[in-house]
Formats: sequence, C-alpha cells, structure tokens
Amino acid sequence: RNPCRFIHDKITGFNCVTHWQKVFEQNGVSEPQQSSEHIISHVLGGKTIYNLTEEVLSHPLTAEQKQMIWNLCTKRLHHMPVQYVIEEWDFCDLTLKIKPPVFIPRPETEELVSLVVSELAEEEDVLFSAEDAHWQNSHRAARPVFLEIGCGSGAIVLSLLHFFKQSYAVAVDKSAEAVNLTRQNAERLCVQHRLQALQLNVISDSQKLARICGSVDVIVSNPPYVFHEDMPGLIPDILRYEDYDALDGGADGLKVIRAILQLAPTVLKDHGKVFLEVDPRHPEMIQNWLQECADMQLTYRATHRDFCGKLRFCELQRS
Ligand code: GLN
Repeated sequence: RNPCRFIHDKITGFNCVTHWQKVFEQNGVSEPQQSSEHIISHVLGGKTIYNLTEEVLSHPLTAEQKQMIWNLCTKRLHHMPVQYVIEEWDFCDLTLKIKPPVFIPRPETEELVSLVVSELAEEEDVLFSAEDAHWQNSHRAARPVFLEIGCGSGAIVLSLLHFFKQSYAVAVDKSAEAVNLTRQNAERLCVQHRLQALQLNVISDSQKLARICGSVDVIVSNPPYVFHEDMPGLIPDILRYEDYDALDGGADGLKVIRAILQLAPTVLKDHGKVFLEVDPRHPEMIQNWLQECADMQLTYRATHRDFCGKLRFCELQRS
C-alpha cells in the first residue's frame, strides 16, 4: 500500500476542519470556517485552532473524537450558534459556560467592561501599567459595589468581580435560566461569595429590587435594546435559539432602559454611575427623555463609541 495514500486515508483534525467547512458552506451555515475551527479545536482541547500544534492537528482522530465532532457539527448544521454548540465562550479574561437560550456575550460588551474599569480606576486615581498588575491587585483601593441588570450568563458582572477583587455585586435577570447560568459561572470562577444573583424583572419588580440591593456605586447593563421593528433583521441563528426577550427592547428599544434609569436614583450612592450598552440612536433619545422627566436626579455624562466607531455606551451619574 502506498504510504502517502495511507496518510490521506486517516481523518485528522486538519482535514476534518476542511471537510466540515465545506459541508457548512454547502448548507448555508454562516461563518463556515470559524464554525468548523471552533468545534474541532474544542474537541481537540484547544481554545482556537491556532493554539493547537501541528502534531495534534495532523494526528489521526480517535473514534470518540470523530463521534463528538459529528454530534457537534450536526448541531451547527441546524444553525445552532457555535457558542451554544461548544457550550462555552471567552469573554474578557474569563471562559464562561454558555447554554441556550441565555444571551451570548458579544465582543462589544467587552468594551463596556473596559469602560467601567477605566472610568472607576481613573476616579480612584489608581491607573497602573501592566507591569504593576500584581501590586494593583493587592493594593487596589476601589471596591465598588455593582448592580447588573439583565445579567444573562454573568459575563459583565463576573468580569468586574474578577478585576475588582474586593468588590461585591448583585446581578438580576428576569429569566430563571440566566440567573442559574450566572450562578454556575460564579461558582466556576470562585466568586459566588461576592455575588447575589436573583431572578427579578426590573420593570415589574423594581421596588423589590431596590429593597434587596440597597445602595450601589455602579449600575451596569447590556439590556435588550433592539428596536422591535428591527428584530426580524437579526440573523436566523440568533432568532431561532437565543432568548428573544434578551434582545427586543420594544418599539423604541428603550423599554428596559427607561426602567433602569427610573430605578437608578433610588439605588445609586451619591455620584454613583450608570453604564449602558445601547443602540447608536439611543444616546440622543435618552438625553431628550431625561429633559422631559422633571426630577430624575440623573445627569447624562458621556457617550462612548465601540470599536466600529458607533455610539454604543452611555454614562450617567446620580446628581
Ligand atoms: N448587539 C446585539 C445584537 O445585535 C443586541 C444586544 C442587546 O439587545 N443587548 O445582537
């Protein structure tokens, strides 16, 4: 038998990536290459295909690995988002457990976390260079208390607790599945003693929420903010698998945002801040709405852009 042919007969990580990429392409699955690479590197024990060595990728797959790849790729063929297929996803410095239908953390939301961290660090006058990281962790003066509204998998609040090692937080979501996932992720990351995760709806349970969470330094949220009429334009994978209520912000996308801002003055400490991820049309709409509400005790501080240059984050402060 020709040794070259023998090698080609073996199914390796490499040729599996190419094979499934083609199958995904032929079946209209979005991001075929990334999907194939994520699933196969997950099965082979790497975060991405680029972490895997040439040796691992060219090694023949075991029957078990082939079966697992088949099972996962079949889910992707049914258009399940790859994050749900592999049941984990990286966000900031953390690897989170991800489970349908809980909202999948998006890359722009990592910028929301960076924004909160840099604004708070600046306030405390504790900006450090990367070399000071160890010193920073042991001496960090800031120990802000956070409230996250609509915590989903816990991505934002857990990243903040990971950074602010002395901080405490309350995280709420109206979905029981989301609250459970946040708790599981908190336990995996060993911060459960610094986090209270509760199933509460900021619109209908606002009084209860205010009573339970006491006063906080920062409210942070990536609320549902998609304008209802834009919902059908989201990609089918998302519409089919992800919690619709985590995305649909009502007619003007502000349904939940208004509830957050109405709650804010009652739970924020003096000069406490609110950081929100929003649609690019929202910063102006929010400023107009605040002017219409006579005594909101909130000052609009700034709008920040995301990495695409879109107006994406709002910063407000209790006045
Ligand atoms: N940017 C998200 C999306 O388009 C929407 C996020 C949200 O509603 N919080 O998928």
